[in-house]
Amino acid sequence: MAEREGGFAPLVFRLHGGAPQVVREVLLERGWEEYDEEEQEEGDWNLYWRSSGFRKLDYENILPWQRLNHHPKMSQITRKDCLARHMRRMKIAFGAALYDFSPAAFILPNEHTKFLGVYTKNRTTDRGKSHYWICKPVDLSRGRGIFLFEDIKDLVYDSSVIVQRYITNPLLISGYKFDLRIYVCVKSFSPLVIYMHQEGLVRFATEKFNLASLDSLYSHLTNTSINKFGMRYDTDKERVGRGCKWTMSRFRSFLHKQDVNELLLWHRISNIVTLTLLTAVPCVPSSPNCLELLGFDILIDASYKPWLLEVNYSPALSLDCPVDVTVKKGLISDIIDLMNYRMIDSFRQKGYHRKRSSRRYLRPEGFLLPKSLHATPSGCKSRNHSISSSSSSQDTLLCSVNNANCPFHANSKSIGDEKAPQNFVEIDSTRQSHRNTTSTIFKLPSLHVHKLKSTAVQLNSMTQDKSVPPCRVGDFILTFPFNEATWKASQDQADVKAIVNEVQKLTTRLATSFNEKERIKMESRQSIGVGDKFEPLLWGPKDPPLLSECFSLNSAK
Ligand code: ADP
Repeated sequence: MAEREGGFAPLVFRLHGGAPQVVREVLLERGWEEYDEEEQEEGDWNLYWRSSGFRKLDYENILPWQRLNHHPKMSQITRKDCLARHMRRMKIAFGAALYDFSPAAFILPNEHTKFLGVYTKNRTTDRGKSHYWICKPVDLSRGRGIFLFEDIKDLVYDSSVIVQRYITNPLLISGYKFDLRIYVCVKSFSPLVIYMHQEGLVRFATEKFNLASLDSLYSHLTNTSINKFGMRYDTDKERVGRGCKWTMSRFRSFLHKQDVNELLLWHRISNIVTLTLLTAVPCVPSSPNCLELLGFDILIDASYKPWLLEVNYSPALSLDCPVDVTVKKGLISDIIDLMNYRMIDSFRQKGYHRKRSSRRYLRPEGFLLPKSLHATPSGCKSRNHSISSSSSSQDTLLCSVNNANCPFHANSKSIGDEKAPQNFVEIDSTRQSHRNTTSTIFKLPSLHVHKLKSTAVQLNSMTQDKSVPPCRVGDFILTFPFNEATWKASQDQADVKAIVNEVQKLTTRLATSFNEKERIKMESRQSIGVGDKFEPLLWGPKDPPLLSECFSLNSAK
């Protein structure tokens, strides 16, 4: 049984069947302990990781020290038909030019007639020029059920599908098609906080790209789940090598040798991520204790324009090859750092009366959660029970904690007020904060039955850090918000229009300023927020310098 220095209990994770093994591996390596429902009380865990979604009840019963790896309602962008609908809506609201990164798509069978209209029009107006389409089942992944067609007579489907314009001029490396798997972590939707990981995967097709053979999935699809069965998977392919994956770092060095404006490309990809996630902001209920890891699939065409193919829920975390090990282990470790358990775990540590005498955890003295939140053998469910029997207007809470870290403490600042140094994340320092404890008694708000939900929300929001998020956590780079204006506009009811406006302003400035060294220095300082609370880093280059510096360097070339 793992036990930490000073008698503090390890952090605890719960994995639902089917959750990736690499998550378990990384957490155990970091000294976490796996939840054991026979031994531990129901709420005695910090992180619950599932590949599938959580139940409504899981969100309702969440305790302040707990985190779930999914936000609710993510299908709004991860189901192909929902994403297509949102993209269309945003094109209408904010102009097709801003959302031109998403290939035109039709949801069939509903939009069959509409598709037929476009298909016929293309055929008659562009005589002789071929148009290609890709058909994908709306709720399948890993390339399952996908096929390409040129002639509508080959479009046969028996479930809900999207038919999307096929990008016929992908950027090729030695004739092989590839796409980028970009890992994005949405720390919160309200306010919107987005981190993009510097590492990622480049996924190759294993047969050379050839429009004359639409049936060859090994030539047109870049899914590993398909290509690992390709005849040429193990062959040492020209420049690409064996297998079908590169790390993003390797791709970065490839890109560096091309005559291309790398920084603009990375910036465009980061814009795609922000503009796509913005579409989900109004649909995702605020859930402060959740975070989401998404896999964005981006295809770059021969003119270096990035296209969004889809957004993956629970992106594959299996370790199929050495590249996977490098990328995915680092990714999971950075996610754990991003969740920052430094503060929140103190509630669990102090609130739990551990039943197991075999464990020598530091037993908190005098800390009693209010009846409604007091962990009992039946855990969360019994919370409702004790509340219904509680009619006192105020419940007394005796707290033995480090004053500086306790949001309940009458004199302490709320956690939200605490300001973490930027670009700096303290890991697992929870234990240190327990050392010098003092006791104090204070009152909690009354806990009538009808107030249960709002009380839980209140407690959970007290554990939320409302200060500006750190710009970098491991290899995760904060890409949104990127200045004070976007930070303000994304609070509470997000002002999507204002955010889109800021994204547009930044893009225009960056695009027009690329070759004007002096103006860049000045403008990037004003527009991106250098000098205010934000110290934005540019996602994409490996060790990102300050944005202003990288543009100066670029324009100096
Ligand atoms: P899945 O969820 O089944 O992986 P995707 O939408 O990611 O479905 O498509 C699978 C693969 O097909 C992509 O990785 C890419 O290689 C290719 N692909 C998908 N859509 C397009 C498109 N519009 N143009 C070109 N290639 C595409």
